[in-house]
Amino acid sequence: MRGEPVGDVVVDVHGVHKSFGPLQVLRGVDLSVRAGEVTVILGPSGSGKSTLLRTINHLEKVNRGWIRIDGELIGYRGSRGKLYELKEKEVRAQRTRIGFVFQNFNLFPHLTVLDNLVEAPVAALRRPRAEAEATARRLLERVGLSDKAGAYPRQLSGGQQQRVAIARALALEPKVLLLDEPTSALDPELVGEVLDVIKDLAHTGTTMIVVTHEIGFAREVADTVVFMDGGVVVEQGPPAAVLDAPRHARTRAFLGKVL
Ligand code: ADP
Ligand code: MG
Repeated sequence: MRGEPVGDVVVDVHGVHKSFGPLQVLRGVDLSVRAGEVTVILGPSGSGKSTLLRTINHLEKVNRGWIRIDGELIGYRGSRGKLYELKEKEVRAQRTRIGFVFQNFNLFPHLTVLDNLVEAPVAALRRPRAEAEATARRLLERVGLSDKAGAYPRQLSGGQQQRVAIARALALEPKVLLLDEPTSALDPELVGEVLDVIKDLAHTGTTMIVVTHEIGFAREVADTVVFMDGGVVVEQGPPAAVLDAPRHARTRAFLGKVL
């Protein structure tokens, strides 16, 4: 599938629970992603996929369980029944190691494409501006948008905006890139160009967790396909196993609807 050897565990999710009031959204999720691996998460709407990604990126606090990123504990840790919370500074530091790509791109509308990529490395990592710009131009070339450096987001198509968002996430050289339905907001004819960029990253060893309904994409690039339903991982394994020979009725029912 890919040339790169897989390495150590980069994302380790253990027994994570998350509720919103009485609503139990994550009910004991375990997930492990190794360096260079692509994990695709599938599941019906409301199954907790976005919440899981958001807990990994500190956008939600977990109620129970723990998450390690690159060996470092994030979120909460249960020890003798006690829960510890990270300081805001630690949360910020860890967030710079995680790239997040949203369904709706979330670019800074008042900044040019180049400045969208330069802002965080300069502000959060204190990189010299010239260095950050050089990296930004290299990344724009990688996603095929060298000629758009001076444009504003509103001047770009949705597919182009999402490619900028991916480049922006990569500008912090994250340990892992999380993508939450990166093509769901796009017109059908723009989906391919964004998937091609993600495939290119997959083939060059970028560690990623991708929530998507694009089954063909999952089959082509995933090392592991995870099927979530009702706040738990129902089954996971190589694409050939989960997509072509699912063991659970819930997985079969879901695939029957999306395939
Ligand atoms: P998915 O991404 O799989 O569609 P989500 O993680 O977005 O699922 O949501 C799972 C459930 O949690 C849904 O019922 C959703 O309405 C609920 N939920 C998500 N975020 C919040 C929140 N901040 N407050 C209350 N309920 C939420
Ligand atoms: Mg979602």
